[in-house]
Amino acid sequence: MSSPSPAAPNQAPNQAQSEALAPTIAVIGGGQLARMMAEPAAALGLPLRLLAEAPGVSAAQVIPDHVVGDYRDLATLREVTAGAAVVTFDHEHVPTDHLRALAADGVGVHPGPEALVHAQDKAVMRERLSALGAPCPRFARIADAADLAAFGFPCVLKTTRGGYDGKGVWFVREPADAEPAFAAAAASGVELLAEELVDFARELSAIVVRAPSGQAAAYPVVATTQLDGICHEVIAPAPDLPEERATAAQQLALRLAGELGVTGVLAVELFETADGTILVNELAMRPHNTGHWTQDGAVTSQFENHLRAVLDLPLGAPDPRARWTVMVNILGAPDREDGTPVGRLYDGYPHALARDPRLRVHLYGKSMRPGRKVGHVNAYGEDLEDCLERARHAAAWFRGDLGDESE
Ligand code: ADP
Repeated sequence: MSSPSPAAPNQAPNQAQSEALAPTIAVIGGGQLARMMAEPAAALGLPLRLLAEAPGVSAAQVIPDHVVGDYRDLATLREVTAGAAVVTFDHEHVPTDHLRALAADGVGVHPGPEALVHAQDKAVMRERLSALGAPCPRFARIADAADLAAFGFPCVLKTTRGGYDGKGVWFVREPADAEPAFAAAAASGVELLAEELVDFARELSAIVVRAPSGQAAAYPVVATTQLDGICHEVIAPAPDLPEERATAAQQLALRLAGELGVTGVLAVELFETADGTILVNELAMRPHNTGHWTQDGAVTSQFENHLRAVLDLPLGAPDPRARWTVMVNILGAPDREDGTPVGRLYDGYPHALARDPRLRVHLYGKSMRPGRKVGHVNAYGEDLEDCLERARHAAAWFRGDLGDESE
């Protein structure tokens, strides 16, 4: 399922037409983040060309102009970006050397390799953030058990690269807890980073968007609930967050976006401790799960602003549309013992949509698998408890946590 480059003679007429109207944006990675870029791209008339990791993956279902291939292969990246004005990402794993090669080919790479490395490598990120004076947990690179003993317990061990959704993160209270971390690091050939175990009161996220010209926008700071390292729920804005702390978090995110030269969305995941201290957990340089609420709860979604930013177009207002927006992820539940699925996707619509006509549902075209993010719901309104109840009910219903008689 390989599509021709724009100059190819067998180019589809509609492709040629749309490329004449606006520059093509190449997107690497066929997950739900790329899929959700397609909606504002359609609205703005921006052609997307996708590199999908397999036929039929989430974004390939909605972006017809796609190539199936390996993002680690430079020739494949060149095929996808040929004729594209810019390239951006659904994930952060494209090797930076390849991105430098694409930039040398004349493709605008957003975010560029010098910025992206801070989202790829947690040790590089920690060292740079510390040099910039950003508040971080105490950390050290760990080569062996002696380094770990010197760092002290309890701590959190992380693979410096390749982790996501809590994979590659171990909570270590004594030396034996570190064995799986050392084994995983040895097997994948990546380094380990130790961090002090932060006794946080809650997790926050500050999302900003920055265009190459330097224009930037900051979304309201949100509160996020993670279970087993996976984002479950987001409340926008973070309840009871003092205004000066929210502003400081936004300013920190804007400063980091500028200092690191980020283009597009930067999500700064934060820990807030009981005494009000804010520490940076990690950075993501792409639309982020903690920003999905913006699709329905903000004037301009993070996906639209990401596309505007990578093209260096004026950014849209990040202001909320309602006092509160709650996002709850729909995660796949384990099957029943007889192998039938507990969760429901399309089959869940009659109840979920009838119960709450104001509910906003986003499914990713993925099948249910335990723990897999298959969609999310957004509920917005003036009353937080009402938004929480509606969004939690809908997500639980799709996940199959509620019986068939659910009201
Ligand atoms: P991932 O790359 O999987 O998102 P993170 O570094 O964000 O990994 O860690 C996943 C989760 O683990 C965080 O959201 C947080 O709940 C917890 N965590 C990570 N680092 C620390 C830390 N230093 N102290 C306490 N909890 C942590």
